[in-house]
Amino acid sequence: MRHSIQVITLGCSKNTVDTEHLLAQLPEDAWTVYPEDYAGKVEYLLINTCGFIFDAKQESIDTILLAAERRKKEEVGKLLVFGCLSQRYAADLPALIPEVDGWFGARELDPIVRALGVEPSAHRRNARYADNSGRAYAYLKISEGCDRRCSYCAIPFIRGAHRSVPVEDLVAEATLLAGRGVKELILIAQDTTYYGLDLYHRRALAELLRELSAVPGIEWIRLHYSYPEGFPEDVLEEMASNPKICKYLDIPLQHISDKVLHNMHRGVTGDWTRALIRRMREMIPGVVLRTTVIVGHPGEGPAEFEELVDFAREARFERLGAFRYSEEEGTWGAENLCDDVPEEEKQRRYDRLMSVQEGISADFNASRIGKEERVLVDDCLNGKLVCRSQYESPEVDGEIIAAIPEGRDASDYVGRFAWVRIVAAEDYDLLAEIIEK
Ligand code: SF4
Repeated sequence: MRHSIQVITLGCSKNTVDTEHLLAQLPEDAWTVYPEDYAGKVEYLLINTCGFIFDAKQESIDTILLAAERRKKEEVGKLLVFGCLSQRYAADLPALIPEVDGWFGARELDPIVRALGVEPSAHRRNARYADNSGRAYAYLKISEGCDRRCSYCAIPFIRGAHRSVPVEDLVAEATLLAGRGVKELILIAQDTTYYGLDLYHRRALAELLRELSAVPGIEWIRLHYSYPEGFPEDVLEEMASNPKICKYLDIPLQHISDKVLHNMHRGVTGDWTRALIRRMREMIPGVVLRTTVIVGHPGEGPAEFEELVDFAREARFERLGAFRYSEEEGTWGAENLCDDVPEEEKQRRYDRLMSVQEGISADFNASRIGKEERVLVDDCLNGKLVCRSQYESPEVDGEIIAAIPEGRDASDYVGRFAWVRIVAAEDYDLLAEIIEK
């Protein structure tokens, strides 16, 4: 008899990768994996939780409570919970939700595999479960944990110390993904620029980029979560010279005011950050920069906030996302700083910054009208091709929408590269036509 399992994955792309590694340990001939929205009977229901900020924790708890109802109605044989929330509140949750059969942490998958009655196999350590989406991109988690101590962040004590995955394991995983039709790798970690320091005693991200770009079939590599302090110059050189590295960088800066950066324990100053951004733009002409910032952090008065808005105007990030500060229990900030910016003021600052950014992003989109760009076609929705160029990352940026040329079929394009001419810019997405090139 086949076993049946359903995994609901919450939170970020790092959790998605963990789920895919876990499911890859289950022998295909003995297990049926049901999609997240399946509502029928299953032998095992697993929930991979997020415990990063209040909203994420709430979503995780709501999801567990709904699953506990299914468990009570005997639609679920065993309910297992793992990931950041259960790691963070391991002492409290079992008594609060007794319907859960097993609670597991965030760093080790082997105990969960064993709880499913399967002995984890070292051979399948780099394997990844594939659903039927046929996506041509995949996330590659290059390390786990974080050695930084940003004062507002709970991740280091949830995910533990930084631990790089060896280059050869990542190359093996990339080779396997390429064999399945993946053409774009998106490198993720808590801090990608820290890669190698624990394992090789040097920053080895540039080296890793070179090795991965040699994997046959991989044509684009994209970098996310690149911490600014200690940013390795050789990564910029690699991005400038290696055509497989997308001219796109996600670099979470969080703020620009010295006072706020100091309170955040970010290890950089405003001037240092400005110089880094200038160097990136000089070394990689045309690079698209995405950043995230926090508004309303302790120490951010009106002057510090205005400095942040001015910085957004001068740096002209093609993409910028903002969070309103929320105190996270157990962090240095929660214990030592005063969360004294009223919630309405945080919202006002958020709205103002985002309205400034809207204009900058719109200018960037408009500047692309008439240009020819190489795109990867992710999907076909409502009869239109959903594409991205090297300047868009999936799930966080806009898309490029193109009609299917007459006489052609969506299957001629989905999962492949194509060329488009951008014909119009909407608020978020771009409209384009497919061209022959
Ligand atoms: S770099 Fe800072 S914000 Fe990012 S996970 Fe580490 S401590 Fe948290």
